[in-house]
Amino acid sequence: MATKFRVTVIKDRCKGCNLCIDECPVKILVQGSELNSRGLLAIEVKDSSLCTGCRRCATVCPDVAIRIEMEV
Ligand code: SF4
Ligand code: SF4
Repeated sequence: MATKFRVTVIKDRCKGCNLCIDECPVKILVQGSELNSRGLLAIEVKDSSLCTGCRRCATVCPDVAIRIEMEV
């Protein structure tokens, strides 16, 4: 069975710069529609089941707002 990953966005840390959206090879990160506590549009995860676990999004995020965990 293929390894699955859980993608968590810590919304109040996200400043909506969208760097992670461009970086994700499977395009599962999208701009959200609700403002976070900082009044900014945080990103949302469209379909976590497609995540490859590459961690490119977490690496590029300047605010350490994305956590990638292997599901067990
Ligand atoms: S770990 Fe890779 S595949 Fe998963 S959401 Fe981040 S950039 Fe996309
Ligand atoms: S790179 Fe980080 S701060 Fe920028 S939109 Fe993505 S999660 Fe938010």
